[in-house]
Parts: sequence; C-alpha cells; structure tokens
Amino acid sequence: MKIAIIGAGFGGMAAAFDLQRHGHEVTILESADYVGGLASGFKEPHWAWSVEKFYHHWFQSDKYMLGLIRELGWQDKVYFPRPYTVLLHDGKWYPFDSIPKALLFPGLGFGLDKIRFGFVGLFLRLTNNWKALEGYTADEWMTRWAGRHVYEKMWKPLLIGKFGPYYQNVNMAWMWARLKARSTRLGTFEGGFQAFADMFAGRLREMEVDFRLRTAVNSIQPEASGRLIVDAGRKEAYDRVLVTTSPALLARLCPDLPEDYLGGLLQLKSMGAVVMVLSLHRQLSEQGYYWFNLPKDEGYPFLALVEHTNFISPDKFGGDHIVYAGDYLEPGHKYFSLSDQQLLERFIPSFKRLNPQFEPEWIRKTWVFRTNYAQPVPLLNHSRNIPAIQTPIEGLYFASMSQVYPWDRGTNFAVEIGRRAARLILNTSSK
Ligand SMILES: Cc1cc2nc3c(=O)[nH]c(=O)nc-3n(C[C@H](O)[C@H](O)[C@H](O)COP(=O)(O)OP(=O)(O)OC[C@H]3O[C@@H](n4cnc5c(N)ncnc54)[C@H](O)[C@@H]3O)c2cc1C
Repeated sequence: MKIAIIGAGFGGMAAAFDLQRHGHEVTILESADYVGGLASGFKEPHWAWSVEKFYHHWFQSDKYMLGLIRELGWQDKVYFPRPYTVLLHDGKWYPFDSIPKALLFPGLGFGLDKIRFGFVGLFLRLTNNWKALEGYTADEWMTRWAGRHVYEKMWKPLLIGKFGPYYQNVNMAWMWARLKARSTRLGTFEGGFQAFADMFAGRLREMEVDFRLRTAVNSIQPEASGRLIVDAGRKEAYDRVLVTTSPALLARLCPDLPEDYLGGLLQLKSMGAVVMVLSLHRQLSEQGYYWFNLPKDEGYPFLALVEHTNFISPDKFGGDHIVYAGDYLEPGHKYFSLSDQQLLERFIPSFKRLNPQFEPEWIRKTWVFRTNYAQPVPLLNHSRNIPAIQTPIEGLYFASMSQVYPWDRGTNFAVEIGRRAARLILNTSSK
C-alpha cells in the first residue's frame, strides 16, 4: 500500500517505522525543514549537543520510547541523571521531587496536612481506576481529599500554570496520570533530542521511507475509488493517510469529515506555549537546581525556569549555561505577539530574583519559540470526547497528543499512539 504520514514528529516517525517494515511504501510529508516536531532542537556552532526548543526529558517509566530506542539498538545513548526540581516556600527554594523530599518540605507543615498529602499520593500511585477519577475536577477532588492547604500550596499553582483559565475544569484523571508516570531521574539522548530524531530519520531513510521536508499539506480529499488525494503543492493519491497534527488542523485539512467527528475535533481545548531559551556566561542557580516551579501569585511572569545545564553539563555547550523560561498560555495571549526583546525585558527581573547577582551582561544570546498547540486540556469525563484514530473516512487515520489521554502528552505517548495507529492500519489492510 502507498501510505502518507503527515508530520515528522516522533508519532509520525514511529508509525513509519512499523508500516515500512511490513512492506508498505511510506512517504512522510513535513511542513518544517527538520524532523522531530515539537521535540526538535537547535545548535550553536560551538555546541556539541543540541538544545530542545521546548525543554524536554524522559521519565524512567517511558516504556514506549525506551522500548523503541532498544529496538533501534541505541540504549547506550540514553542517560538518566538525577537533577533537582524545587518549590518555593517563604522565599526559599526546597527540593521537591521524591517522597522523602516532599516529607521534608516545610510548606506543608508537619501535622495532618502532611499525612493527608502522603495518603493521597500513595492512593494515586496505587490505584489504576482513573475512570472513576475523571468525573471529578482536580480542583474539587484535591481540595476534598488532600485538604485546602495542601491543594493551594502544591497542586493549584501547577494547574493554574498549565491550564490558565481552565484550571478549575481539568479532571482528576489528568492529575492521576501525571503522578503515576513521573520518576526522579530524568532522561535524555546523547547529543539531545534532535540528535535522536535525526538518527531515527536516518534509519527510516535507509529503510526507504521517503521524507519530504518543507512540504505543507493543504488538504486531504476522499476519492470515489476509496483512495485519498493529498494536496501538498501537487496532488497525489494514497491508499492510507495518517495525520499527526493538531485536531484543529485536521479539521481544516479535511472538511469532508462527517459533522460529528469534525465537531468533536473542534471542541477539544488546548493551551499554547511560549518559551525563551537563553545562553548565559554564568550559572544561574548556583545550588545546581534544574527545575523551578514558579507560583504565578508570587509575581513571576512565567511558569517554569529550567536550567538545562544543571541537568546536562555545560561542557556539551562550549561552556555556555542554558536556561529556559517557559509558560503555557492560551493562543492569543499577549506573549504570542510581543517581540523577543519585549519578552526579555519582562523576564529579566525574575532572573535577578532567582540569583541576586544576575546581570543582563551574563546573557550571550536568546531565542524565543512559540506554539499554539502545546498541551491538551482534559475536561470532565474526557474519555467520551477522544476522537477515534480510525476516522469515519475510509483510509484516513488520526494520531495526536489529544488522544493519548488519560496520559499527559509526551514523546513516549507520541510513539505509543503512532505505533497503535500503524497496527490499526496494518490490521484493516490485512482483512
Ligand atoms: C513546552 C513543552 C514541553 C514538553 N516537554 C516534554 C518533555 O519533557 N518530555 C516529552 O517526552 N515530551 C514533552 N513535550 C511533548 C512532546 O513534545 C510531544 O508530545 C511530542 O513531540 C508530540 O509528537 P507528535 O509526533 O505527536 O507531534 P509533533 O511533534 O507536533 O509533530 C507534528 C508534525 O506535523 C508537522 N505539521 C504541522 N502541520 C503540517 C502540515 N500542514 N503539513 C505537513 N506537516 C505538518 C509539524 O511541523 C510537526 O513536525 C513537551 C511539549 C511542549 C510544547
């Protein structure tokens, strides 16, 4: 069969790997001039490793990604250092990424609140019944079971940071999945995620997958013959098409989809992201902290400050110190239209708050990356609203971040859903 995959992110490439191995003729159409999608990176000439445009790491529980890497034979290129995530309390930062660290965190007191925090954490780790949780908002469930103080100190800032105006509407299964899948050691690939994406694309090319970069798909139309016509500048017919873009884009590409399915795609909500990457002459967090969770009500103009070189040594970046300042925002938020310089001026005072010695002269260079589709928003009983991978149009398939629920989006689940879509295509074609 002739199969088109729209998008050369990890979902599209994982699907291509399985489909091509089964003897099909796979073409990947990608609008950008690079592979890796949202997990792609960039490199300065004097850096040995690339830096992801949006901060990325793996968890030790990322079995689909780590399994794929093992199949490719590159497991010796995966590293799991143990960086530190910190949380603010009374103007001081405390490590907060493991049960022992959480038990020592003074922000939760040392009485009943800490006991409730511990029991809730344990319950969420042990239960697999996420379906029972998706009928509650995280806001109401956590307030009730963990208590108002724990919720407001710990979970509310996280929900506000990730989901902004939707924070009270996000369901509890999302929170369950997040706590279930996390590990304290965080992983990366030798050379960065872009190095892995390029090696993966290289392997796929050896297998004769046809990559067409700088090729934006404009429309997909079903033909009476049962084939699908993909218009990407020129029109070409395929037996199967797998789309890995956002739901809104699929709706635009294929308006012939039945109303029910189209409506379902369009009612899905998501947040965008704006991330500034800075290379500095000096280390920002001298304590060596990697990830700062910044409470918005403390006046920080972004959600997370991530010092990448407290995770991966600055030696890999010619001695530069790499820092991310990132936020999840509704598409249309002013950060999407401010210039890079205006954004930097807003962010600079926060760097000084984190390290009073910081001076703007430390900054070597900055980059700003923006995306409208960064984080799907799971509302109550969200499992009822997940679009099927196999769309109602014969031969047309859809696999995106919005469908990996109850899990939170991530490259691990992009691989899982890409391979699940490939299995469906293979099963239907052998009938
Ligand atoms: C701020 C941020 C932080 C993140 N942190 C992590 C993390 O720490 N760990 C982790 O594992 N994951 C993380 N993720 C999530 C991860 O990046 C995604 O889940 C994953 O990359 C999605 O892969 P995908 O293949 O489904 O989609 P994408 O990577 O979005 O791939 C879709 C591709 O389609 C292409 N495309 C779009 N329109 C067209 C068109 N018209 N024609 C042709 N091609 C088109 C795009 O250019 C893109 O390459 C993060 C994401 C963000 C935004």
